[in-house]
Amino acid sequence: MKRIAVYCGASAGNDKVYQEAAIKLADWLVDHNLELVYGGGGVGLMGLLAKEVLSAGGQVHGVMPQELFDRGAAFDGLTDLNVVADMSIRKQTMLKLSDGCIALPGGPGTLEEIIEAFSWARLGDNPNPCVFYNVAGYYHPLKKMFDEMTDKNFLTAVDRQKLLFSDSLDEILNFMSSYIPPKIRTY
Ligand code: AMP
Repeated sequence: MKRIAVYCGASAGNDKVYQEAAIKLADWLVDHNLELVYGGGGVGLMGLLAKEVLSAGGQVHGVMPQELFDRGAAFDGLTDLNVVADMSIRKQTMLKLSDGCIALPGGPGTLEEIIEAFSWARLGDNPNPCVFYNVAGYYHPLKKMFDEMTDKNFLTAVDRQKLLFSDSLDEILNFMSSYIPPKIRTY
């Protein structure tokens, strides 16, 4: 693995545990020689994450839709910033540029991006592992929802194993390193 796509809040949350986790993840990426691919934003957990990777000596690749760039959302000073036409192209580009996807805590934008990446993995359109970094139990309700999907036969148990919720960066690295994409869905 060379590059990791990280999705996270354009807000910082109201508990410093989320900001500490963003910094910890940034340092972990740099320690493991992993470059960051992210949305290119300068605010919230996004900005914190990028700033910390850069100050620890890592590489940060931003991918931002034109409309957000025009509104001044970009972080100044990234290794590179790819301004693309829209959100759909941004999501595709982030997947193409990376070897794995991690979601830090965030809002609807974060959820939408990581869940699309996981849905695409099941369609055969994303070969990269998807992980929720479950900081302070933030993603417990979503984990329950995925277990419910599996219980109610809307998601196979085999595919459920292809999505990790974890608060351990060691476990996340193991999962990503040994990941085999799901079999393409049949109907
Ligand atoms: P949210 O989780 O709702 O705060 O949205 C964060 C996600 O949406 C990020 O992963 C970005 O892809 C996108 N996004 C929302 N606001 C911004 C912003 N100001 N700059 C860059 N990306 C943003």
